[in-house]
This record gives sequence, structure tokens and C-alpha cells, in this order.
Amino acid sequence: MILRLHGVIRGAVQGVGFRPFVYRLARELALTGWVQNTPQGVLVEADGARDSLNNFVLRLKLDRPPRSFIQSFEFSYLDPAGYTSFEIRPSDTAGSKTALVMPDLALCEDCLRELFHPADRRYRYPFINCTNCGPRFSIITALPYDRPNTTMREFTMCPACRHEYEDPLDRRFHAQPNACPVCGPQLESWDPHGTVTARRDEALSAAAELLRAGKILALKGIGGFHLMTSAADEDVVRRLRKQKHREEKPFALMFPSLEQIRTACAVDGLEERLLQSAEAPIVLLRRLEGSSSLVCDSVAPGNPSLGVMLPYAPLHHLLLHHINFPVVATSGNITDEPICTDEREALHRLGGIADLFLVHNRPIARHVDDSIVRVLLGRELVLRRARGYAPLPVTLPAPVSDTLAVGAHLKNTVALARGSSAFISQHIGDLETPEAYNAFRETIEGMQTLFDGHPATIVSDLHPDYLSSAYARTRPERQITIQHHVAHVAACMAENELTGPVLGIAWDGTGLGTDGTIWGGECILAQQGHFRRLGSLRAFRLPGGDRAVREGRRAALGILYELFGETLFTRNDLLPVESWTPAEQKNLHRALAQHLNTPVTSSAGRLFDAVAAIIGLRQRSGYEGQAAMELEFAAGEGNAPPYSFDVQHSTDPWTIDWGTMILEILEDRTQAVPASTIAARFHATLAAMIVDAARRAGIERVALSGGCFQNRLLTELSVRGLEGAGFRAYWHQRIPPNDGGIALGQIAAAAFTGDLTRQE
Ligand code: ZN
Ligand code: ZN
Ligand code: FE
Repeated sequence: MILRLHGVIRGAVQGVGFRPFVYRLARELALTGWVQNTPQGVLVEADGARDSLNNFVLRLKLDRPPRSFIQSFEFSYLDPAGYTSFEIRPSDTAGSKTALVMPDLALCEDCLRELFHPADRRYRYPFINCTNCGPRFSIITALPYDRPNTTMREFTMCPACRHEYEDPLDRRFHAQPNACPVCGPQLESWDPHGTVTARRDEALSAAAELLRAGKILALKGIGGFHLMTSAADEDVVRRLRKQKHREEKPFALMFPSLEQIRTACAVDGLEERLLQSAEAPIVLLRRLEGSSSLVCDSVAPGNPSLGVMLPYAPLHHLLLHHINFPVVATSGNITDEPICTDEREALHRLGGIADLFLVHNRPIARHVDDSIVRVLLGRELVLRRARGYAPLPVTLPAPVSDTLAVGAHLKNTVALARGSSAFISQHIGDLETPEAYNAFRETIEGMQTLFDGHPATIVSDLHPDYLSSAYARTRPERQITIQHHVAHVAACMAENELTGPVLGIAWDGTGLGTDGTIWGGECILAQQGHFRRLGSLRAFRLPGGDRAVREGRRAALGILYELFGETLFTRNDLLPVESWTPAEQKNLHRALAQHLNTPVTSSAGRLFDAVAAIIGLRQRSGYEGQAAMELEFAAGEGNAPPYSFDVQHSTDPWTIDWGTMILEILEDRTQAVPASTIAARFHATLAAMIVDAARRAGIERVALSGGCFQNRLLTELSVRGLEGAGFRAYWHQRIPPNDGGIALGQIAAAAFTGDLTRQE
């Protein structure tokens, strides 16, 4: 199948023979398309077979001309454009002049070499950087991007650094964070009371010793604090879980080297590229069979994958080089609060957790978490967009009036549209705590300052009770609300450059629908500037409402009650019923019968939770999505026939009815069919429902969005099923399918319906 690669390459790629190199490489690989210099970077478009395009991506980095350097290369796979040759297009100097704020970049190879070279004047200096690497978004306070507008303003360059900074031939020409041991920031180690225990290299050694001794380190990095412990030490990892109030959610790991990663995980070519990229995200990798002595069980209990990254700041390189074993590197926060950025604040918030603080005096201007990605269907899928990616824009199909979108409630991000660019903020988090709400407001103010944004319109979620929606109402500008699942579909359309007609499948946990019920299993048609809900999963009552997010047995009870009605509570052969005491059963029965705190929902996410509970995998979860993930893991590679399901098409929207499927699952349960088989057949059924919806709608292009499509098996089965039946499937790449994509979707949806048409 022919695809089109659309990419933007930023860095030292202009005036170094980069375009002729791209041209020759494209010709050699028989690709058609073009390459062009623009104020936003080098744009490249290439039609070709998937393997050739993958090759192209890998070789762009490997074979690039000397003196060129790729700071960021964001690309996606789109429908082919039908180019017939490859050409170098004339430079576009008229394009958008919106200043580009670069993301934070991992340490480059040149700086890495100097860092470990004893004769270099920056030997073992933890804040080494150059024009090609180092902090950007996390230190900038205003535009233009000049030293006085960064948190480096308080450091005066020494003559040697100043000379490099002013020499156009030097690698540090205008490197704003340029510094050295004489003039720049320095390390200190602090005890939990804030008393300095060591400085410079001795502080680093103290931190390394502490990790070796099985203790917890709080380390101030690029975009905030990490909590670190030895990944092999079961006791300390358990202690960290307890003190961070994080029972089971997997921890990310930082490994000293790619070689060590390979002893614990399978790594393919694309995953290797991602691990070593300037973005340096956490990459979800499949664990190798058998346990690795480097990683204890408590790091990611029961999880077949590990979230892994390589050192990206010079400080990480020095520390990991010193210890030479992998560490847990989790955000410095309690549960889902925003990551800590200031050392005084860290003492206060992390004081009860960390045994030592490794800090420095380069201030962090804004929190930027580690990004999380995985490879799915041979492409990158960003699950959390932050360091290395934020605040790079997504290009909209047409210019819009200046607009601010405030996102949803969970995994919040915000977005600011200027012209054809939608700048997406870093991951902010769940807007559940005052800290998160402050971070949300600061992020909005920061985006408006950086991009000189004066929005005429504020877009928020239809749900009036989200803190983001409440914030929107405090703003004097014109207000637009967008239904949650419409935003999901629009986000997926925007990044795939689809303008309709498109059938959007938006499956997730929760979003308020236009009929006042909770949606989450929606089929939405986007056509001619309108969104229409064509179909939906059968609805059921959710006893306890939001409490069901952490208790799949509630969703299970709701589903079984919908199927069996009153007779449910006379049966005692059903696990989700048995898991309650008789008194609790009585209360739940009454609540369901009298519709007390039992909101109606068509959520696909809750259907996952319900099935996990029905087959006895999990009745309660430690975190949202845990039951669904375990159902995915249980299914394995999952090649299984679907269960039966029905569709009621006399209703508007039509109803995809899971009733028969649940009955067959219950029957399998009684026949002692293994959970893995049931889980695999459940996934196959959901994919079959999606293919059936596409047939029913008769729309060729189908966009998959919403948190359920973080599930690799569901996404793969759905895409293969759709393509096998002659449809074209689209999914997320650069923008998260979860609620991290809602802010972009809000802008894209409002633009699609013509609400943001620019008045010239
Ligand atoms: Zn560098
Ligand atoms: Zn200096
Ligand atoms: Fe959602």
C-alpha cells in the first residue's frame, strides 16, 4: 500500500546541503514528493511503500550531511497525494512568521563526547549543552528566545563561554543556555531538611551511593523532579509505591545504555530510533520472556511491557554512567499532582519520600513531564505529549481566528490556535487538585505570552462541571462548547488531514453527551461541517457513577442488571454479585431499581471494566484503565472468533447491542473456558462491531479515537478488520488518542463547523 509521509525537520538543517541530501535519498528509495525550506523548518512530503518510507526515516538521521543536526523530526503517515516525481521546491519565506519555541532536546553526541573527555573544559559538567541540544521550552520565559528571556539570565557568561557564544563558527554560537563550570549552574545535594550535604561532583557521587544503598533520590532534571531508586531492589520500589500513594501503576525506567535495555526488552528499529531521538521519550517496550535481574516485579506488576528511556540530560548521563544499572525514574509528585519543579517546593512536597535531593540552581520555568510513546502498527503513537514534543504545533487545514481550547478534565492539555498552527501544551494532568488547577492556569498564561496569543474565542468541553469548563466561563471572550467525543473524532481527523466525510469511532471512559447521559461508545459522522451521532453502544446504568472508574464490578452489575433486570439479585452464580456483601447487594439493588446515583452510560471503557469483572480478572482497580489493560494482556496476540452481537437499527442513533455477547461470555465462564480465550474473543467482537458500523454508515474513511485506542490489540484488530473489508482506517500518531488530544480536537471541531472562520 502506498502512503504519504508528511514531516517537519527542525535543527541545523538549513544551509548545510540538507535539501539536496533529502532529494538524493528520496530518489534512491524511489519516493515521489518534495522538500522545502520554510520559516518553520524543512518540510518534506514523500509518497511511497511503507518499507521505503521507514527506510527513509531511519536514513535521514543516519546518513545526514556533516554539520547538519536534527533537533526534532515530527512526522506522520497520511493518504498518498499522487506525486509523480521528487523535487526541491523553492524556499517559502512568506509562510507563518509565528515564532517557533523549540522543545527541550536530549544531549547531543558532540556534547556527550566532551562530557566524558578529561581534557575538555566541561569534563563532567552536568549542564553542558550547545546549539543542537539542551533545555529550551523548560527555561524560556518570553520571546524572543534570548538569554535574558530564559532562566539562565542570572548567570553571566565567562570570557571563554562568551567567545563561543559570539563566534558564528562555533557549535555554541547563540546557544542561550551556554555555560561551564566557571560561570554556570552547579549541583548540590541536600538532606530532607534542605541542608547542603555536598557540592558539585561530590554531590553526584553521594547520589550514586544512595541509589546503590537502596534509597530514594529526588533529582532535579530538565522539566521537573524525578524520584529515582534502583530498579532491581524490590524493597525500595515497594517503599516508593507506598509513599507516593501509587499502588500498582507501572513505573518508568531509565537505563544506562541501549545494550542493557536489550537484556530486558525487545527493541525493533523504530523503537531504537525513538529511544535515541532528541525527543528521548519513555518508550513502551515488550518485556523479554523470563525475568530480568535488573528489574524487580514491583516496577510494573503483571505488565508485559516496560516504559523505558535513556539518559537525556548530561546529569542523567553522569549518574547512570556512575551506577551502571537501571533506575526507576518516576515523576516527582504524589499520585497525579503536577511534577515538582522548584527545589524548595520539592523539599516540602517530596520530603516524606526522598532520602536525598540532588538539585541545582538553574530554575525551571515550567513543568514538562517525560513524554510516553509506543509503536503501534509500525508507527509511533504518542500517549503523553510533553518533553521533546511540546509546544510544537499541528497544522490545521485552513487558518482560523485566534482561539484557546482548554481541554477536558483528565490528562488535560490546552491548545492555542494562531493562523494555521495549533500549538499544543505539554501534558498538565488530571484537574483534580488545586496544584493541577494552578498548573493549568499557568500553562494557559505561559502559552499566551510565548505565542503572543489574544484569543477571540475560548473552546471548552460540553461538561459544565469540569474545572477547565469553569475556567473558560471566567474569560470574557466568546465561548464555544464542544461535545467530548466530537472533539476526539476531530483530533484524529486533524492529524490525519481528513476533511470528511469520515466515520469517527470515539470510544473511551466518559464524556457528557448532548442528551445529558454519559457517552463513551460513539459512532459519529463528520460531513459537510456537521457532526452527527449515527450509532452508539447499548446504554446501561452505572451504580455509584464515578466510583465505577475504580470498581469494574459496578459496571458489571449495571450491565447484568440491564440484561437480567430484577432476577439478577436472585442469582448467586455471578462473580460481580458475589463480590458484595448481602447488605451492599441490597443497597445496590435499590439504587438500580429506583435510579439513585446510577447515571446512564454508553461507555466502551466501562464495558471493558465490566467484562474484566464478569470473568473474574479484576473487581477493583488501582488506577483508571487497569482492568481494561489486564483484559488486553490476558488476550495476548488474540486471534479468536468474535462472539455474537446485535444491532437495533430502528433507533436513532442505532444501538450496538452487546447483550448476546455477554450471555455467551457467561456461558463460556460456566464451561470454564480460560480467561485468555474470552478476552481475545471479546476484543475480536469489539473490532467486528466497528467494521459493522462502517458498513452500516457506508463511509469509506474511519477514524479511531478515544482512550480505548491506547489498547494495541483493539486498534490492530479494528484497523485490520476495516482494511480487510475495504475501508480506510485512521488512528492517532503524534496526538494522544486519550483526553490529551481533546484540546486540539476542540479547535479542530470548531473549525470544521465553521465557528472559527477568520474575519479579515
Ligand atoms: Zn550539544
Ligand atoms: Zn563559562
Ligand atoms: Fe475521552
